[in-house]
Amino acid sequence: MIKVAINGYGTIGKRIAEAVSMQEDMKVVGVTKTRPDFEAKLAKKKFDLYVAKKENVELFEKSGIEISGTVEDLIRKADIVVDCSPENVGAENKKMYESFGIRSIFQGGEKKEVAEVSFNAIANYNDAIGKKYVRVVSCNTTALVRTIYHLKTNFKIGRIRATILRRVADPKEDKKGLTNAIAPDPIRLPSHHAKDVKTILPDVDIVTTAFKLPTTLMHVHSLSVELKESVKREDVISVLENEPRIMLLSAEDGFTSTAKIIEFARELRMRYDLYENIIWLESIAIDGNDLFLTQAVHQEAIVVPENIDAIRAMFGVPKEKSIEKTNRSLRIGYYKI
Ligand code: NAD
Repeated sequence: MIKVAINGYGTIGKRIAEAVSMQEDMKVVGVTKTRPDFEAKLAKKKFDLYVAKKENVELFEKSGIEISGTVEDLIRKADIVVDCSPENVGAENKKMYESFGIRSIFQGGEKKEVAEVSFNAIANYNDAIGKKYVRVVSCNTTALVRTIYHLKTNFKIGRIRATILRRVADPKEDKKGLTNAIAPDPIRLPSHHAKDVKTILPDVDIVTTAFKLPTTLMHVHSLSVELKESVKREDVISVLENEPRIMLLSAEDGFTSTAKIIEFARELRMRYDLYENIIWLESIAIDGNDLFLTQAVHQEAIVVPENIDAIRAMFGVPKEKSIEKTNRSLRIGYYKI
């Protein structure tokens, strides 16, 4: 059993904790919270709870929530820490992980330099074998890498142009928002996503632009991929539908928007988590030398299976074995409509 500590029990941390607890070869030894709020109370019902910041121990004592110690106490009990703290805080936390000599996984909000390798299970699992510090790339990069990896390994492709329509905030983020606007973010080319894709697929020729939209449910990517050989639409569909972490849905079944995709996911999984890239079947089209497709990304969930596989890779478990276990336990690839 790999003993896993989750440092930071927010949007990503709570989902990874739940997913780890569903694996037969790993267990959650504890999770951390910074404040004794309702999320801490809920976390305590499922896992041993530790305080992420020593100076906040008193706050927990006053609130009456029983804690098992501080993050340092938790690290002593663990084989690996999955850091799910906010952007740039992970890099700060790394100093503590180094002082304990413990393996650690960082999230996509950190710069690539935080780790020895940036990770996506399908594209570069083996690069993380035996590594001590691994960074799971962001939700947008994970989705781009999955699709591009399959296109580039099956067809001769050239330049990729991707437009990323980003949800402005997660549903719980009541301090962020955009009420009545579409904001180019960034305004100047390129957005950082292309660079991030190259941390995993360095030889891909890609440029990305990005916009923020007033929605919280999902991101949407519009991709145009130059084809350097003659390819049939059916061949593209057959490659994509064979990847369990990609789900093809059809507008004919009523999937007319991200709202409908999430309505479907509400029936499927806890917290409507979609671990798969959702590609609209009808959007897959070839026009001249260009392949087009549109995919939707549930930002809160897509990186969860990647973190589970990153843990196994760091402990030397072979790629196919890990991905199969992760997909089976999280029921990824089980729903075909
Ligand atoms: P979040 O704000 O929902 O959760 C972060 C948690 O960490 C909070 O509970 C916060 O209290 C806690 N925290 C604050 N300071 C801490 C510290 N010093 N030590 C430990 N914990 C601390 O954030 P999130 O959305 O879960 O994002 C976490 C990471 O995952 C970021 O790097 C982010 O870029 C990345 N990520 C987020 C998404 C997304 O859409 N939410 C998707 C993919 C990757």
